Amino acid sequence: MYNSVNEFMEKVSSKNTAQPEFIQAVQEVVDSIWEYIQDNPHYLYANILDRIIEPERAIIFRVPWRNDKGEVQINRGYRVEFNSAIGPYKGGLRFHPSVNLGILKFLGFEQIFKNSLTTLPMGGGKGGSDFDPKGKSENEVMSFCQSFMTELSRHIGATTDIPAGDIGVGGREIGFMFGQYKRIQNEFTGVLTGKGLNWGGSLIRPEATGYGCVYFAENMLNAKGDSLKNKTITISGSGNVAQFATEKCIELGGKVVSLSDSSGSIYDKNGINTEKLHWIMDLKNNRRGRISEYAEKFDTIYKNGERPWSIKCDIALPCATQNEIEENDAKILIQNGCIAIAEGANMPSNTGAIEKFIESKILFGPGKAANAGGVAVSGLEMSQNAMRINWSRDEVDNKLKEIMNNIHRQCTEYGNEENFTNYVKGANIAGFIKVADAMLDQGVV
Ligand code: NDP
Repeated sequence: MYNSVNEFMEKVSSKNTAQPEFIQAVQEVVDSIWEYIQDNPHYLYANILDRIIEPERAIIFRVPWRNDKGEVQINRGYRVEFNSAIGPYKGGLRFHPSVNLGILKFLGFEQIFKNSLTTLPMGGGKGGSDFDPKGKSENEVMSFCQSFMTELSRHIGATTDIPAGDIGVGGREIGFMFGQYKRIQNEFTGVLTGKGLNWGGSLIRPEATGYGCVYFAENMLNAKGDSLKNKTITISGSGNVAQFATEKCIELGGKVVSLSDSSGSIYDKNGINTEKLHWIMDLKNNRRGRISEYAEKFDTIYKNGERPWSIKCDIALPCATQNEIEENDAKILIQNGCIAIAEGANMPSNTGAIEKFIESKILFGPGKAANAGGVAVSGLEMSQNAMRINWSRDEVDNKLKEIMNNIHRQCTEYGNEENFTNYVKGANIAGFIKVADAMLDQGVV
């Protein structure tokens, strides 16, 4: 048994050297739940803390493929099967050059609590590769996906482990991987989510993470008697999550003034309307271009190499990647009058930034709550596949709204402090209880 968070974290750090993102994710959860588990020592006696931070399994494999010149290329593939206490492993695949075991362990660890919050029976997992789809031909992306799935197919299955998309993995990549899985296993099952609509996909799955994040922001504002209407909103990223967060903000009467990619940000003071958003979707999803082209096309400002956080806003939705809001960005957001942050990305705010948000008591929805809509609708896709039925757009959207409301309610139940909801604490405690109780029920496994 540990006497303090520091004592526990020293052990975590020494056992997971060179995995700073994983250590950061564990620290955030343990800080939040420490007091709660001291008051409920049965979790301590069963040593749930040591068990929950250890993946049940982590698979690392070679991914050989040939580029268009016929040259052999080698990437590294991973699947971290973190926790299956409440259901089969579930979590996305990320294809990005920065991918390594530590990043996937952080994402898999976050996924455990997020999936628990959705109320659906899904365990936590994450995977991916250091393969970079940017600048690759369609044929190269397909060759890579087929090779990646050739190995991964041994480890996953519709009742074992069901991957989905994440950074660098959208409908195109899921299609190539699903085709290869079916070819190898000779079965048509719901082994991946985010599938195409006419081969087992769910309506609203592409939209779900972005829409869910905006529903969560609206829930936080509503609890304060406010709403998104007429608010100025900055969003980072311009991929799947950012695009559909923008679409929902526009629908709810907000004005989105920024989007970004890894090269820089655009600032459109008149707001991105539906027509401009469709142009961006075509740019990013079909032409695979850079966000700087928006500034040329619509004669707006482009901030090369900058994130959007210095732009004055009421609400900020970080939807790109981890640690994209640092402490100084948080200070600027607060000084500029920002009243709410909802994280579409996973762990986009670093530890210093979160401290500033909590200290200043602005509304702060952490990723494991605010972006859980994506995996929630993946869970709904699994249900539809199992029942061999398709729900309508409205049915899925209503279920998504209900799930986001429910997550918000759980956060307020466990995160209530004097005149303030600490959503970080609420999400971590609520997510932890369900998984930890299941682990207790299932014995020392
Ligand atoms: P996409 O690949 O569709 O888009 C990612 C966007 O973020 C792109 O605009 C990309 O720019 C930008 N980006 C990626 N890495 C960096 C970086 N290191 N610095 C600056 N910008 C970067 O991914 P998604 O939209 O699916 O994912 C975005 C975030 O949301 C991730 O944190 C992901 O884990 C999280 N998330 C996604 C879910 C989903 O359903 N897709 C579910 C829950 C969370 P560029 O093109 O230049 O690389």
